[in-house]
Amino acid sequence: MSRFFQKSLTPYVPGEQPGEREYVKLNTNESPFPPSPAALAWAEEHTRSANLYCDPECRALREAIAETLGAAPENVLPGNGSDEILNFAFQAFCGTDKPAAFPDLTYGFYPVFAGLNGVPYREIPLDAAFRIVPEDYYGLNRTIFIANPNAPTGLLLPAERIAQIAAHNPDSVVVVDEAYIDFGGESCAGLIHSFENLLVVQTFSKSRSMAGARLGFALGSAALIADLNTIKYSTNPYNVNSMTQALGLGTLRDPEYTRKNCAAIRENRAYAANALRARGFEVLDSAANFIFARTQAISGGALYRALKARGVLVRRFDKPRIQDYNRITIGTRAQMDALLRAVDGVLSEERL
Ligand code: PMP
Repeated sequence: MSRFFQKSLTPYVPGEQPGEREYVKLNTNESPFPPSPAALAWAEEHTRSANLYCDPECRALREAIAETLGAAPENVLPGNGSDEILNFAFQAFCGTDKPAAFPDLTYGFYPVFAGLNGVPYREIPLDAAFRIVPEDYYGLNRTIFIANPNAPTGLLLPAERIAQIAAHNPDSVVVVDEAYIDFGGESCAGLIHSFENLLVVQTFSKSRSMAGARLGFALGSAALIADLNTIKYSTNPYNVNSMTQALGLGTLRDPEYTRKNCAAIRENRAYAANALRARGFEVLDSAANFIFARTQAISGGALYRALKARGVLVRRFDKPRIQDYNRITIGTRAQMDALLRAVDGVLSEERL
């Protein structure tokens, strides 16, 4: 830190992006599948006009997102990844008089955004089975952030439970972060017409194979979206570049490709979870493109390091309650088999 830095912040630490060695990379919940070929061709076309500014209103993309999710373009705001949208939401809807609330075990960026924006926050404990208890969020008078499915657990709340949280907080915004919803959950997108305080956030990074292109969006009442636009136009009007807008649009025009990939991930998730359970692991019931697992045979940290030494990268967190778990991204069947071979190698070494 220089002597000029005016902040006191603990930044978010992204999953490793290793350079020195080829890993089976199961640590950042990316899609193992490339973007839709149709979408790639469409995006390439748009690199030719990169001399011009992109459309700051993202009109074509907003229309396509709105149509896909049964809303109107004024209900949609695209962003540079859903992280940007979440940061906008902290800026727009939180303050000292409207602090934030989120689960104690959830996406690690929420406390970071709170810190960055000077927002006080309360962490609400998950129950003994790592579940969110909706009643704990009733009448909080705080802006509520809920990842559904939650991360890193993968556990899902039914949409009607989110609706109850929104109904019990009529004077606060409830942000539902649906980064992983396409892998087995029911989206709350349809609920934005009933709850003016509900903001649904989704991403193209996971089910739509676009993590590196950076595209996410918010879906909510026109008034909430207008507030987020005020933040956006006070920050970076050109927040989604033209190649990414084109790639996103092309991806939405090829829904069969995304559907097929999500089905493959669900299949591989069941395969990997069952195989790990057969090896004595406890695996939470995931609705996401990752599983959260531990075994009595070896500590979480030791397993993480042993897998890495064998060329398989997973993600581990230091919080005491979850330090014995590893979060494993679901990839192709070949990647899952590589994981299982590495696990078998580590476990047989443990037994020696
Ligand atoms: N929310 C959750 C729960 C996530 O796990 C992630 C991925 N790290 C994000 C949001 C952000 O994703 P992106 O910025 O790539 O859209």
